[in-house]
Amino acid sequence: ITSTADPVADAPGSPASPARKPGSLVAQDVHAWFGDHQVLSAVDLVMAAGEVTALIGPSGCGKSTFLRILNRMHELVPGAALAGQILLDGQDIYDPSLRPIESRRRVGMVFQKANPFPTMSIYDNVLAGLSLTGQKVKRRGKDNEADALVEHSLRSAGLWDEVRNRLGTPGGSLSGGQQQRLCIARSLAVRPDVLLMDEPCSALDPTSTRRVEETIRQIASEVTVVIVTHNMQQAQRVSDRCAFFLAAEGLPGHIVEQGSTSDVFERPRDERTADYVNGRF
Ligand code: ADP
Ligand code: MG
Repeated sequence: ITSTADPVADAPGSPASPARKPGSLVAQDVHAWFGDHQVLSAVDLVMAAGEVTALIGPSGCGKSTFLRILNRMHELVPGAALAGQILLDGQDIYDPSLRPIESRRRVGMVFQKANPFPTMSIYDNVLAGLSLTGQKVKRRGKDNEADALVEHSLRSAGLWDEVRNRLGTPGGSLSGGQQQRLCIARSLAVRPDVLLMDEPCSALDPTSTRRVEETIRQIASEVTVVIVTHNMQQAQRVSDRCAFFLAAEGLPGHIVEQGSTSDVFERPRDERTADYVNGRF
């Protein structure tokens, strides 16, 4: 496989200002199965550039599965099958000519449990995603690019001021909320177009949660954010658009309702949406 041009070197203004334009992600008629068990049906969703899209709905309705589909991790699950299309700025991320690792670089993921490498330094944690995706930055000498990338990524993640004087200390020495923001910085360092976040605050206290929410709003100018959350206040605070998933009455997970966050919360069209967003589920 011929490798394309180095995306780090290609980024506009790289590496001191590695910000890039967010990408638009479109899911078209997505169906998913685990073996014989269908878990998603006919999911259509536009996750627009520069917006934060919240996915809400009860446990088991396929939200995490949908996120894994969006960055090609679903195909790694034994027995998993998929129909439909995922387009990133018009290009099918499952296009056989696109390496899976490149799809996963362009669509990053942050998980419920922050997972920095605990004994690796904060500095090296930020850069850890680059080697996984085959990107290189110069770390030594006059043309060192790594320092600027680390600083930019930590600034974007809202963590720079707290860690700038301790970049050599282990990632595991940070608080839970700081670790989650470190994971966001690590994701941003590979310059994704989209960042998927699966319940990123579920394990955090309210103060840390608010810091991560501020970070989410801030990075939305740099990456398109898709966040799964069970916290209805959080969905309202951070998202521009919202999709309500449900798996009920024998049907696989599907979107019952989607729209602007204010419409979904204040003027839901479907009674089940109204019940869910008002905690009657
Ligand atoms: P949510 O994130 O909304 O709670 P999930 O996407 O985790 O929902 O799960 C959707 C459905 O898919 C559930 O019925 C779950 O049991 C099933 N499922 C999830 N992962 C797997 C897997 N690896 N193998 C088989 N079934 C799975
Ligand atoms: Mg889940």
